[in-house]
Amino acid sequence: MRVMGEDTANITDKGGAEIATHPEPASGDNPPQVQWRCTQCLAVNSVEDAGAGTGPWKCSECGEATAQHPEAIDAGGGLLACPVCGSPDLYRKRDFNPRLGVGIIIVGVLLAWPTKFISLALCAAIDFAIYRFLPEVVICYHCQSSMRRYVAMDRVPEFDLNVSDKYVETERERGW
Ligand SMILES: [Zn+2]
Ligand SMILES: [Zn+2]
Repeated sequence: MRVMGEDTANITDKGGAEIATHPEPASGDNPPQVQWRCTQCLAVNSVEDAGAGTGPWKCSECGEATAQHPEAIDAGGGLLACPVCGSPDLYRKRDFNPRLGVGIIIVGVLLAWPTKFISLALCAAIDFAIYRFLPEVVICYHCQSSMRRYVAMDRVPEFDLNVSDKYVETERERGW
């Protein structure tokens, strides 16, 4: 026999109510993130908590709602397809900002003469180290959305030119 009040006494941990009402995201404090381009106004938007069931997402510029494809995320929170357009063709790469890489090399070149060219080797090493330890990002070939911090992203294959070619025509029609 259940004693009334016993259950609630265990759960009620004042201040913990906030936690109790939200299920733990699969990746703890770092929920998955999606960045996509609005099909109406072409603004780039990002959702900081894009786990299963968080859509539809609204464009911050024009308010256009983008539905989340529920079949794109499996029960464990891993990606099966693009949550924005539903395309199953995704690739994975290092989340590297090319501008940062080029910037570091420029600094190396500028300091080359005063440092007797040691800066060149140093900056190349820094670039390499940054690249090596960067997290990965998953990109949709079709709509170019980028997905970060989903679980099991290493299941997604790396960039494949043959798959990419399938989408060249789409991109030409779309114009971006
Ligand atoms: Zn928009
Ligand atoms: Zn997509």
